[in-house]
Amino acid sequence: MLKKVFGFDRFRPFQEEAVDAILSGQDLLMILPTGGGKSLCYQLPSLLMEGVTVVVSPLIALMEDQVRGLADNGISAATINSDMSEEARNEVFNKVREGDVKLLYVAPERLTANGFIPFLLGVDINFFVIDEAHCVSEWGHEFRADYRKLGLIKDYFPKTPVAAFTATATPKVADDIIQALQLQDPLLLRAGVFRKNLTIRTRKRTGNGRMQILDFLQKYPDESGIIYTFTRKEAEQTASFLQTKGIPAAAYHAGLSPEEKSTTLKGFMYDRIRIVVATVAFGMGIDKSNIRFVIHTSLPKTIESYYQEIGRAGRDGLESETMLLYTKSDEIRKRELIEQVENETYRNVLYDKLQTMYRFALSSRCKHRLLGEYFSDEGEVCGDKCDSCLKEETAQVDITKEAQMFLSAIYRTGERFGQNHIIEILRGSRAANILKFGHDKLSVYGIGEMRNRDEWGMIADRLFETEAIAIGAHRALKLLPFAAKILRGEATLQIDADLLGQKRRLRPVTKTMPQDKTFSALRTLRMELASSHNVPAYIVFNDKTLHELSRALPQSREEMLQISGIGEVKYERYGEAFLKLCRELAQQEEKQI
Ligand code: ADP
Ligand code: ZN
Repeated sequence: MLKKVFGFDRFRPFQEEAVDAILSGQDLLMILPTGGGKSLCYQLPSLLMEGVTVVVSPLIALMEDQVRGLADNGISAATINSDMSEEARNEVFNKVREGDVKLLYVAPERLTANGFIPFLLGVDINFFVIDEAHCVSEWGHEFRADYRKLGLIKDYFPKTPVAAFTATATPKVADDIIQALQLQDPLLLRAGVFRKNLTIRTRKRTGNGRMQILDFLQKYPDESGIIYTFTRKEAEQTASFLQTKGIPAAAYHAGLSPEEKSTTLKGFMYDRIRIVVATVAFGMGIDKSNIRFVIHTSLPKTIESYYQEIGRAGRDGLESETMLLYTKSDEIRKRELIEQVENETYRNVLYDKLQTMYRFALSSRCKHRLLGEYFSDEGEVCGDKCDSCLKEETAQVDITKEAQMFLSAIYRTGERFGQNHIIEILRGSRAANILKFGHDKLSVYGIGEMRNRDEWGMIADRLFETEAIAIGAHRALKLLPFAAKILRGEATLQIDADLLGQKRRLRPVTKTMPQDKTFSALRTLRMELASSHNVPAYIVFNDKTLHELSRALPQSREEMLQISGIGEVKYERYGEAFLKLCRELAQQEEKQI
């Protein structure tokens, strides 16, 4: 079944144990990183068992893509959601009753909706699946009240096994999931969090970070990626900035209409849009396998969400890259948001998580190892897959003199003004506010013209970071004890050189994969087949399969079935076309020799 339907030669780690548990009727909690292959763990046993599998998954929009992907492997799946007409819904109900559906995808709120449980009681359910199960827990990072209610499944179906899946759960969250879902003597499978095909970097952000993004994107002229921003406005602006550079990018956030969202999502899935610039509203459940990079333009709120977001890169196992841009002010802005959370326990949990995230960004220890420790897994040092291990240390510039100017401007104005005002003084601005307070008469007025506004922003950030200054009442800057040391010349201050407009010495990064002529020819065929079958390209074959094809150039059906990702159903559908092309390509290669 693994080979025939899914086209895989062997299980990945933990998959077989999960499949066995489900087949033997045991409850299951599986914690496996994104890309680890969770879907197979319930899809495969579902095919081997009588009855229908009910899959609870948080995002309706994405269920349809999953259903389509399954159909492409010859598996009948359906979804029920609130956008559907009564008629369409009844049609699905009937198909389920008649046993024509193997996997039924539903949103968590559907389960508690009127009449749904009675309907389910009337059909033969082999087991339940709870996807993104960490949403159950207050100790997690994406707590959802609807998920908490999923415990009622065991009230109504005490004998039906429940299999819960998540990519991220600390031991505390795992306990909470087991309790809330009332899992009985479950098998707990926890894989390590190490993703060996992800290179992780964190960088201080310069200005709004756009130049750093452009720099980064040069390595990826054709590949897909996601850029996460903090605000909707930033998402829009960054997307249009990239468009002006000729890059097919689009914004995605909760403020868009459902039509706009689905156009962008589809465009991305079908490779028409190469880069999506999104707030966190984007990505949960996205299974596009050929995402080559993920960039964050500011500090994420938690390690969990960060880990999930970077995890969307490289699901196909090919080399992929992530870059996190951050400043101290991000941490301050996020802190202000957390203050509004009412539930005190949850609020304090969020403060702690933010603090941990900030320390992660700053750390010079192995980033993979830090992630491993966080999810309380031993974890090894990666060696060459993070900026810390690669020792990409940046040249440092001494900014003690600038720091002294900045601090003395704060001191001379009585710690009563905000960052912008201080920078205006240093740069000798004629703004009304400066003149009104007579700040053009100060000895520090205009002494900082050699640094531009962005650079002064970076210097201020560095002062926050080293706890020389803090934000006091009415957003005014105030001096902390370390400021006195800098002012007296007892402490010096450095900053990464590239933050002040000088280029850092970066190790050259090798491109992900050689994209030769053979590969492009295969990719073009995949594109044609995808559009004629009306599915995303990666559903035809993922990049890994395509790379294997281009290396092996199989010359017969048997050879082609050896390729990972090509099962009989896929072969039926696309095999002949690819075989024909592979034969042509092999002949061309021979001629060249
Ligand atoms: P997750 O839900 O854990 O993030 P997916 O179920 O989306 O991961 O699987 C990630 C990718 O790995 C998919 O492209 C899938 O086809 C592939 N995959 C799953 N199991 C195997 C396997 N045993 N061998 C090879 N590839 C696999
Ligand atoms: Zn490392």
